[in-house]
Amino acid sequence: MGLHDVKDKLIAIVGAENYEDSKVSRLVYSYDATPDMQALPDAVLSPRNTKEVSEIVKLCNEHKIPIVPRGSGSNLCGGTCPIEGGVVLLFKHMNQILELDEENLTVTVQPGAITLDIINTVEAKGLFYPPDPSSMKISTIGGNINENSGGLRGLKYGVTRDYVLALEVVLPNGDIVRTGGKLAKDVAGYDLTRLYVGSEGTLGVITEATLKLVPKPETKKVMLAHYQDLEAAARTVSSIIAHKIIPATLEFLDQPTLKVVEDFAQIGLPTDVQAVLLIEQDGPPEVVARDMQKMAELCKAEQAVFVQVAETDAEAEALMTARRAALSACARLKPTTILEDATVPRSEIARMVRGINKIAEKYQLNICTFGHAGDGNLHPTVPTDARDHEEMERVEEAFAEIFELAIDLGGTITGEHGVGVMKAPYLEWKLGKEGIGVMKAIKQGLDPNNIMNPGKVFAKETRKRVVVSR
Ligand SMILES: Cc1cc2nc3c(=O)[nH]c(=O)nc-3n(C[C@H](O)[C@H](O)[C@H](O)COP(=O)(O)OP(=O)(O)OC[C@H]3O[C@@H](n4cnc5c(N)ncnc54)[C@H](O)[C@@H]3O)c2cc1C
Repeated sequence: MGLHDVKDKLIAIVGAENYEDSKVSRLVYSYDATPDMQALPDAVLSPRNTKEVSEIVKLCNEHKIPIVPRGSGSNLCGGTCPIEGGVVLLFKHMNQILELDEENLTVTVQPGAITLDIINTVEAKGLFYPPDPSSMKISTIGGNINENSGGLRGLKYGVTRDYVLALEVVLPNGDIVRTGGKLAKDVAGYDLTRLYVGSEGTLGVITEATLKLVPKPETKKVMLAHYQDLEAAARTVSSIIAHKIIPATLEFLDQPTLKVVEDFAQIGLPTDVQAVLLIEQDGPPEVVARDMQKMAELCKAEQAVFVQVAETDAEAEALMTARRAALSACARLKPTTILEDATVPRSEIARMVRGINKIAEKYQLNICTFGHAGDGNLHPTVPTDARDHEEMERVEEAFAEIFELAIDLGGTITGEHGVGVMKAPYLEWKLGKEGIGVMKAIKQGLDPNNIMNPGKVFAKETRKRVVVSR
């Protein structure tokens, strides 16, 4: 039985205006921000509330129709590409900030709320929601929760996972459960909230979330340290942490990235140095001043050729915005941009950067590397052209080798972008057969008909390792 058999029932649930199956609508939702990946859904539904979501899911489960929940489609792992058809669920009607609780320091939101709207709403009350993916102007909180997204402030404040206190979830059989609460402590049973964070739409539909807030830092300062030696920049990252300073942001940009970002943002970034570290500290003014001075000394001790402190808030914001634009800036170079997010323990950053450069040379690719150095989370990025099959093969081989290097250094295949379709063939490298077995048992237990975002996370075939031993 296919979708045409239940079309009338779905329309009865959401209303004709919230059911789209024209060729145009299906094409619009056939792809996401992931390059070179497209598949048509059968229909696109926009439920108005949890009850409607539950009824849709129940019906789809009965008829084994795939469901792909979709926020803004900004994920980079093919997570919202409907590779097995079925229905795409949009949350454009479920995008409200429902409650800001200043006594419990929480905000309760619907899944379609835009991340930056949440951040701005709570900041207006002197509160702070730290997770700040560079896509925050467009990403939804439902997407952030399902990818466990990180951002520039991850080093000091953690990632989305660290701020999700409670969820309302529609299970794959249509039942509705509530996990967690506005609680600082809660050990009642398995931590279902954490199970759902990062589940990439494969275990159910999140219809509401309560997020933890913290007081907004009183002040912040930004500086840029310039290096002629990549490894000196990487060593500085370890040195700062070893001196027991945890900056809010500690980002790395190499020269190829600096050139494209400066060309795009035109804010006077240095393009004649090998790399920069972009460092932000926040907190009480005296702590910020002390940490900034100490970090400047540490940068110079590790051979920074110049340390530049942003004089004004506007200058500081311009630097942070330029960093956030790195992917968009790289995307201007060639028709296809492939960005990855292999992650290593921060002590291995220097070796990882060196390894990426060697791999770029081996496969004759131009790789721009930037990322959250303080988190060991790098984004090697290749501007390429999907129509050039020979180069695309080299890109694939190079990334397989980069993932392998990350695993060998004690790291992981993805730090914040998720597995989706793109990283599924590599997941076993990180988790082993037994780890995949545990995940499959959870998936099978909750979603025996495999209707929730099928084809994601679990690969049909594991990729062979490139270099068996290093
Ligand atoms: C320019 C750019 C910069 C980026 N920068 C960052 C960054 O700094 N850090 C970072 O971590 N990521 C970053 N990303 C990746 C991406 O923006 C994040 O993964 C983001 O969280 C996705 O949000 P979204 O609303 O677009 O979700 P989508 O892409 O629509 O969905 C993501 C996943 O969540 C699932 N999903 C969405 N809503 C629900 C729901 N209500 N219930 C169940 N499942 C759901 C989907 O099925 C999918 O698996 C960037 C992407 C771009 C294009």
